[in-house]
Amino acid sequence: MDLPLIFNSCKQTKLHGRYVTNKHIAPILNDLKQFFEIDIIGTSVLNKPIYTVKIGSGKTRILIWSQMHGNESTTTKAIFDLLNWLKSDDEKANSIKSNFSFCIIPILNPDGAELYTRQNFNKIDLNRDAYNCTQPEIRLLMQAFHDFKPDYCYNMHDQRTIFGLESDTGTYKPATVSFLAPAYNEERDINDVRLKAISVIAAMNETLQHYIPGQVGRFDDSYNKNCIGDSLQSLGVPTILFEAGHYQNDYERENSRKFIFFSLLSGFDSINENVLVQDEKAEYFRIPQNKKLFYDFTYKNVKINYENKEKISIFASQYKEVLIDNSVTFRAFINEIDNLEDVAGHEEYDGLGEAFRGKNGTNIPKNDTEADFFIGDRKFVNGKEVK
Ligand SMILES: [Zn+2]
Repeated sequence: MDLPLIFNSCKQTKLHGRYVTNKHIAPILNDLKQFFEIDIIGTSVLNKPIYTVKIGSGKTRILIWSQMHGNESTTTKAIFDLLNWLKSDDEKANSIKSNFSFCIIPILNPDGAELYTRQNFNKIDLNRDAYNCTQPEIRLLMQAFHDFKPDYCYNMHDQRTIFGLESDTGTYKPATVSFLAPAYNEERDINDVRLKAISVIAAMNETLQHYIPGQVGRFDDSYNKNCIGDSLQSLGVPTILFEAGHYQNDYERENSRKFIFFSLLSGFDSINENVLVQDEKAEYFRIPQNKKLFYDFTYKNVKINYENKEKISIFASQYKEVLIDNSVTFRAFINEIDNLEDVAGHEEYDGLGEAFRGKNGTNIPKNDTEADFFIGDRKFVNGKEVK
């Protein structure tokens, strides 16, 4: 499979960037009606429709949902790329449709998507509501799960830019895609169900290593019955957590989107062909664990005046994602000063011993203030050096 070629042929160009809501996907779903069965399974707290797309006639059933966290849209974009491919008459796409049946919920949390928040409108994190099921959105997901009776579940998310991976030689790379086969019990045992999820992850990782070596991570597998993945795994259905993360200079996550698409196709392939990775359990645990290693910007060797003493320091800025006029804007704020051992910046600056000068003439960086300042004569606006 030439994954880059397939991706370029089927990328859904109507979706771009970080802000993806029902308003963006509704017209696309309308166009897809001629190819797939599209339904509304219920509504959100604010009565927005929650859509499902059903595809294929095969025996292996996969339930996929994205944007359970409203501001995590990268995997939704990849799902629409997948739908574009599946609607084609491509031989491989046809084979997938005859071997699998998919039930896809592209946006489970449409209120959060519109507000660009992680939580739903009631400020509940739906991925901590799997046990109590207090919210309509999670109840609809559970209903879809019981009605569809999947053989696999794909739980699709975005992760923050802070997550990275450390190589054997101690270098850091961003965690562009991370996975987890969630635990089904406190002991984090591996039964046949969890092993199936592990096998698919091992296969996806093997493919991704050709494109983003060292940038695939594995999430912490502590058991939490309130998380949907842990809960479904304990109900006996192999469940896989996908996390789209940062790729170098790609805050719009258009590259990460592509790598999620590659993951989906290579995962289906491994289930379909039953080509198991050799010693998949060892391969899975060899995937490095996600760690909080990154800031968006770091500035080292900066002279600051701390309690009337000058010292050479390091500080960091981090973007906040702010929704302005229906688009997500990245605004950098100073985030951490001094305590920056063992971390890296996606963009790193060396202040060469020059002095920090902030707004209003302050000579010490302050947490939670906008990252607009000078280091010596160099001007920084919104975290970045302006030349
Ligand atoms: Zn999430």
